[in-house]
Amino acid sequence: MSSEPTIFLPDTTIGIIGGGQLGRMMALSGRAMGYRLNVLDPDEAAPARFVADTFFQGSFTDQEAIKRLAQTSDVLVYEFEHIHTDALEHAARLKPLPQGVDIVRMAQHRTLEKEYLSRAGFPVAPYVLLHRPKDIMSAIDQLGFPLIVKTTRGGYDGKGQWRLFSESDRVPLEDAFETIFARAEAERRYQDRLGQTTHAQTEVPFDTSDSTSDLTRVPLIAERMIPFEKELSVIVARRADGLSKAFPVAENIHVNGILRQTIVPARVPEKIQQTATSLAEAIAHTFQVVGLLAVELFYVSDGTLLVNELAPRPHNSGHYTLDAVSISQFEQFLRAVTHLPLGEVRLYSPVVMVNILGEHLPEVLKRIPTLDPRVRVHLYGKKEARAGRKMGHLNIVAENIEEALEIVKTVGVE
Ligand code: ATP
Ligand code: MG
Repeated sequence: MSSEPTIFLPDTTIGIIGGGQLGRMMALSGRAMGYRLNVLDPDEAAPARFVADTFFQGSFTDQEAIKRLAQTSDVLVYEFEHIHTDALEHAARLKPLPQGVDIVRMAQHRTLEKEYLSRAGFPVAPYVLLHRPKDIMSAIDQLGFPLIVKTTRGGYDGKGQWRLFSESDRVPLEDAFETIFARAEAERRYQDRLGQTTHAQTEVPFDTSDSTSDLTRVPLIAERMIPFEKELSVIVARRADGLSKAFPVAENIHVNGILRQTIVPARVPEKIQQTATSLAEAIAHTFQVVGLLAVELFYVSDGTLLVNELAPRPHNSGHYTLDAVSISQFEQFLRAVTHLPLGEVRLYSPVVMVNILGEHLPEVLKRIPTLDPRVRVHLYGKKEARAGRKMGHLNIVAENIEEALEIVKTVGVE
């Protein structure tokens, strides 16, 4: 690819790999800007399908499907990171893929993510890689209780995680661990068979002198459980020429590993907000992100910030930007990948974003006709309202956070 970034004006067609709610909101935003949008997703009921110009149903590893998307699009983007990098590389050979593939490779392997972040000097929670079942014992010795064991591949919304609180968890764990390990190992092999064959060729713009290939084969990772004061996230938009703009720091409340509420401005000292923002910007620059990078952080009461996870795309904790910021994360993402000027980021109002999960939907729908006028409703058009599935979100835009949190009590998501 040439070194001069290509500008894609709003008379071109953007092909989105992935048709979930993020793809849907990207497409809605792109349409308002004047782009045409095509979407590829395996699910015939993919939320983005219903707002796209053309929908291609097909697996992300189906070379023919990728080719059809590429042939009908001028530029390609992806809306989530659990896509096989071989498929993305294939796509990138057909049409420009400004986000690139390296950052996906890193974000889809917890091992690579942790190792690269710490090698680059960014703070993360202490962790131990679990190569084989008995490694859990030395992890317990090194990290102490409580700790979290996570699969290195394919996890989202807290899936593929096990929390160990005390010595009493150790015995059942020894038995269970063989099974957990076998499952994680099977998941890793499955992902590999699907097309992730590029272990040895991982390229990142910094030192990878020791074996990356070994890192991607590790099925599980143990992390010290961080007694955080708050969880924060920062979303940074960055263009290929290095121009970047960050969104305000968000405070995130998770329940069982699933994001439930985002509060902006985050209720942490101004100085912490500045440090969090600089940290996220530095990470985006180090890894040469193009598009968006969401950086999830733990804020510990002694003032420490630790990086939890990265997502190279719009993020659930950035949905508040749809109603409370001068530009949404979706439009900013599209501006970054098409190399248009990044929009000014100004927070218009305090806001609380509340996720609507499957179990909340009937009650929220019932209450829609009488909701407080400060509640903005966003639904993703998903038919099946399974428990824990993200069906939509509400943005409550109020004078202050306290008022917004009072309104949250009335929306039917308890
Ligand atoms: P996502 O939906 O963000 O992709 P995920 O399944 O990839 O989630 P994580 O972000 O790693 O998982 O963890 C989900 C949540 O579990 C975190 O937001 C946090 O609340 C909790 N958690 C994860 N790791 C730790 C840790 N080391 N210490 C304390 N809490 C943690
Ligand atoms: Mg996370």
